[in-house]
Amino acid sequence: MPAPDNTAFQVNIKSPGGTLLNIYAVNAADLSQKLEELESHAAQIGAIESVFAAVSNAAPISAPPSTQSPSNPGSRPSATPSSAPPAGGAAPSCSHGPRRYKQGVSKAGKPYKMWACPSSDRNNQCPPEWVND
Ligand SMILES: [Zn+2]
Repeated sequence: MPAPDNTAFQVNIKSPGGTLLNIYAVNAADLSQKLEELESHAAQIGAIESVFAAVSNAAPISAPPSTQSPSNPGSRPSATPSSAPPAGGAAPSCSHGPRRYKQGVSKAGKPYKMWACPSSDRNNQCPPEWVND
C-alpha cells in the first residue's frame, strides 16, 4: 500500500513467521509510539502466525507439495510424502497422470502407504490406491 503523503518514516518489518508489518509515521515521536504499540502486539502477532502454521501442517495429505517446507528439518509432519516408492513396482496412474507415492502415520496412529492422485484440485481427485504390505 502506498505511504500517506505526510509520511516521514516508513518501517517495513518482516517477522520470522513471514508477516509483513508496515509502519508509517509523520515524525520521530510518532514512529516511536507506533513501534511501542507494535511491540505490545508482538505476542499476539506471533500467536496468530502459530495458528496459521498449525493449520497448514494439519492437512498435509491434500496440500500440494509446494506448501511443504523441506528446509525445516525440525518439523516432522506425520504424512511427509516420500520420494522413495516401494521397489519393484511402476507407479500406477489415473486420468490425471502418474500417481504420487505417500506414506506416513494417520491421526489414529495407523501407518499407511498409498498412491495419491496428482490432481491439485481436491474436488476432482481420484480415491487413493492403498498399498498393503
Ligand atoms: Zn486422478
